[in-house]
Amino acid sequence: MADLIRLLPDHVANQIAAGEVVQRPASVVKELLENSVDAGATRIILVIKDAGRTLVQVTDDGRGMSAMDARACFERHATSKIREADDLTTLRTKGFRGEALASIAAIAQVELWTREQDQEIGTRILIEGSRVRTQEAMACAAGTTLAVRNLFYNVPARRQFLKSDGVEMKHVLDEFHRVALAHPEIAFQLVQNEHEEYNMPAGNERQRIVHLFGRKYDERLVPVEEHTDFVNVTGFVGKPEFAKRSRGEQYFFVNHRFVRSNYLEHAVRKAYDELVSRENYPSWFLFIDIDPAQIDINIHPTKTEIKFRDDRAVYAMVHAAVRRALGRFNIVPSLDFEPEPAILAAFASHQSESTPARTTVPAWRPQDLGAFNAPPRPSVEGWQQLFDLGSAPSAPDPAPTEAPQRVMPWREHEGTPGERPVFQLHGTYIIAQLRSGFMVVDQQRAHERILYERNRKMMEQGAGLSQAELFPRHVELSAADLALVQDVLPELRSMGFDLEPFGGRTVQVNGMPAEAAEEDPTRLLEDLLEQLKHERGTLRNERHHILARSMAHSMSIRPGRVLATAEMHDLIDRLFACEMPYHTPSGKPTLITYGLDELNERFER
Ligand code: ADP
Ligand code: MG
Repeated sequence: MADLIRLLPDHVANQIAAGEVVQRPASVVKELLENSVDAGATRIILVIKDAGRTLVQVTDDGRGMSAMDARACFERHATSKIREADDLTTLRTKGFRGEALASIAAIAQVELWTREQDQEIGTRILIEGSRVRTQEAMACAAGTTLAVRNLFYNVPARRQFLKSDGVEMKHVLDEFHRVALAHPEIAFQLVQNEHEEYNMPAGNERQRIVHLFGRKYDERLVPVEEHTDFVNVTGFVGKPEFAKRSRGEQYFFVNHRFVRSNYLEHAVRKAYDELVSRENYPSWFLFIDIDPAQIDINIHPTKTEIKFRDDRAVYAMVHAAVRRALGRFNIVPSLDFEPEPAILAAFASHQSESTPARTTVPAWRPQDLGAFNAPPRPSVEGWQQLFDLGSAPSAPDPAPTEAPQRVMPWREHEGTPGERPVFQLHGTYIIAQLRSGFMVVDQQRAHERILYERNRKMMEQGAGLSQAELFPRHVELSAADLALVQDVLPELRSMGFDLEPFGGRTVQVNGMPAEAAEEDPTRLLEDLLEQLKHERGTLRNERHHILARSMAHSMSIRPGRVLATAEMHDLIDRLFACEMPYHTPSGKPTLITYGLDELNERFER
């Protein structure tokens, strides 16, 4: 029998390979722009006609190519970027496969002009369907221009798969945005059908975002900046109130390469947890810088997915960075704590190891995550018990009916409370002086926020302190409620509910969360179940959020509760020791500030 196996001719092999690399005009845009970036360009011009069907042209002022390289760049696996497999671990360029130009030249008519910076004369090459038509020496500008005409001219089947111009142009713009965002240090211009769409000078990240998406973005962004030896996370996230119903602008760049990652997306969404509802999408532009050896780059040529060697550490870092940025900047503008020493001191006294002072930008450390930040405080019953697990009595208190003393000795050594005037209004609001004016704190909401963060930490650590009931109590539930309780039993236990099924539809309550010991277990449980039923998240994280929030709400102090001065100070201090003091877990404001200038204006001073 005759031998049947043959090696495919190069142009056929290239055409097949092109099927992977080039799906649509936008793929060409991506490859050419990235080559220009890799060539060290400071200015890149993209010209598009008919959504890229008839022309995609990229001009750069990069290093250019020699006559030999100009010919070689269209060979398959021809690359100047790596020489051996090991080079992949130090890769900082976009390209490295040497496939793009070979693929593009197999399915389009390509014209190349290129000149090295130190040469007088450049090279022009015309190539179509992998066949070189012309190669000549030519006078041209230093740098490179690649014009790709009539994409898929020799592959009608592929041409038919292209979508409308509108759709194709959207893909082109997406690629352009990604590269332009990743490299604000490069000037970019985009000309579409003879019309200049963008002309952006080199600048910083913020300026680039504004150039691409409009002036309004300037005020919507909160800077993110965290540095460690392992990874740096910088960039911007959108303020929660500007989250959109549709997916907004969401970009991750790893070493200046756009990547898609559900995993990282989850880390960011989680940081917005109680600030943005699940149906809304905040924007983000996050730049992750990491040693290339820490990523697995060797993935499909057109895929934007990425693999980190230690993806959990990156996740934690991204989450912490965004969380902290939101906490730091989600501020009512006139709030001016910085120069007020008394309040600063109060801050400091609540900053445990794990929550560095809010007024500086501290370096992130792995132990920051999920650390339990309630510092041990002198044990005072009543008020104290509203917050601290650490001070909960370890043995059951036989006389819980006695009204606990509500006043606590307040850090006298830090100066008299008189230095920080506070005042309670209608048993509901606390008014406190700020250097630049005053703030009104909603006492219940503040308390809710404090309890919420505490609950979350306990759940993460599974370390809720329970105060044993002297006599176990029995609570009878509906069948549905019972099923629900069983479902969330681990979470309930981690918050300090010591429950066990007692047969039938009854659960036995052996212990209650220490700080809720005064509450009626039946009411508290029913409250919780009610809220859980309303919005039942399936993810563990959502469940934690809902439970922690409901618990916080059920246990928070009510309007009408009269507070002593020391209690008010304490509440405010604890509020500002929170990661996110300005909103309740359901996103309502905890405080409002008024500036002196506002008062002065109204008094016409
Ligand atoms: P890769 O980028 O993976 O190396 P390409 O097929 O995209 O593969 O490009 C092949 C080679 O052509 C590159 O390695 C580079 O040396 C050269 N090249 C491509 N575009 C440019 C450009 N705009 N300026 C200078 N050299 C370029
Ligand atoms: Mg390339």
